[in-house]
Amino acid sequence: MPKKPVIGLLGGGQLGRMLCEAAGPLGIEIVILDEANCPAKQVNQNAKHVTGSFKDPEKIRELAARCDVLTIEIEHVNTDILEEIATKGVTTGPGTVKKIPVHPSWETIRLIQDKFLQKEHFSQAGLPVAPQMAIESRPSMLDALRESYERFGFPFMLKARKGSYDGRGNFKVSGVQDFEEAVNVMGKLPLYAEKWVPFVKELAVVVVRTEDDEGRLRDIYTYPTVETIHEDSVCTKVYYPPRKVPADVCEKARGVAAGVVKTLKGRGVFAVEMFLLEDASIEVNEVAPRIHNSGHYTIEAVPYMSQFKAQLCSILDILPRSLKLQPRVSSAIMLNILGGAREDSHEALADLSASLYDDQMDIFLHQYGKTSKPGRKIGHITATAYAPDTDLEQLVAPLVQEVDHIRQ
Ligand code: ATP
Ligand code: MG
Ligand code: MG
Repeated sequence: MPKKPVIGLLGGGQLGRMLCEAAGPLGIEIVILDEANCPAKQVNQNAKHVTGSFKDPEKIRELAARCDVLTIEIEHVNTDILEEIATKGVTTGPGTVKKIPVHPSWETIRLIQDKFLQKEHFSQAGLPVAPQMAIESRPSMLDALRESYERFGFPFMLKARKGSYDGRGNFKVSGVQDFEEAVNVMGKLPLYAEKWVPFVKELAVVVVRTEDDEGRLRDIYTYPTVETIHEDSVCTKVYYPPRKVPADVCEKARGVAAGVVKTLKGRGVFAVEMFLLEDASIEVNEVAPRIHNSGHYTIEAVPYMSQFKAQLCSILDILPRSLKLQPRVSSAIMLNILGGAREDSHEALADLSASLYDDQMDIFLHQYGKTSKPGRKIGHITATAYAPDTDLEQLVAPLVQEVDHIRQ
């Protein structure tokens, strides 16, 4: 058998860990750049791993020199170095320079890193997004906040253009009284303002994109639409199928997500976060150019092609062409485990998961090997049901209660 290409991974958190868990049985080798003993390295021994930061140019070059293709589990990486490696190459030995493809494309990662430019790009492609305006080019931030109010009314959302996750770069401006705090908290960052979206639900679709070696789009595949619940701006729960959302709306969301990913470059998995409005219209919130929390349920719900396996197969260009991402379950609920006040707050969850054994549902506990800190994503639980009439929400209610309790 010819040797499979070696994948270099920037970042070794829980997403990287689950990617490694999918790679093992497929005989795919992954080399990770991150700190020693990060969650992904705990489950994947490899003498080629690089210890250091996935922001460090030298370390990224070192990783690239040991691999055939690079990918990411976090979008906040140095795209200048990725561009250099993909277009000019990296020294792999004395006098040998080799270009290493980056998937998704460094251009896509760069575009997505700036949430304002990302949404300008989607808007120009005719995709539905909330109205927005850049802030940093104005003479004074207070003037810009006033202009945002004139354009969008209150409340509006002030967002960091770069580096944000779990809502950490977002500031809701509810009235003039918030301006001063907005300047104090956000004033040093490149910002944009976004119209408040009075959504009834948040939806997400994980999309797989394939292309040929010349960068021509080949296929787009979509997993089903899911409902995501964010509490304090952090995703806490995911429901497949979405609750009380008509099937045609779910299909529309899949179509929007496919349209979004068509406009991007590179192979791999993308997650499209969307808002569903009262009138059943959909707006794109943002895209993650990688495996995503909203797709964790696919490990058990689409076992033959989870989002992690899809990431591996698409970047290695070995994805079956007539793939149907049809879940093997009738419903699934994913609950994030966020660290509680004490380091061991979550420990009762393992026993509770086991005690809820029921012949109508299966429960799968995933722990990420991270030290618990308040609010930190340290694991997740997926519950699945197979019979269409199973009330999965009711069956998992004790678990929902416990994960909510830990978080408080
Ligand atoms: P992520 O961890 O998903 O990358 P992020 O820091 O990039 O998060 P966003 O996705 O922009 O943040 O926003 C986080 C949450 O804040 C959204 O899921 C949504 O609940 C809420 N939100 C964001 N933008 C708006 C808006 N314009 N109107 C209303 N709510 C919003
Ligand atoms: Mg984001
Ligand atoms: Mg988001």
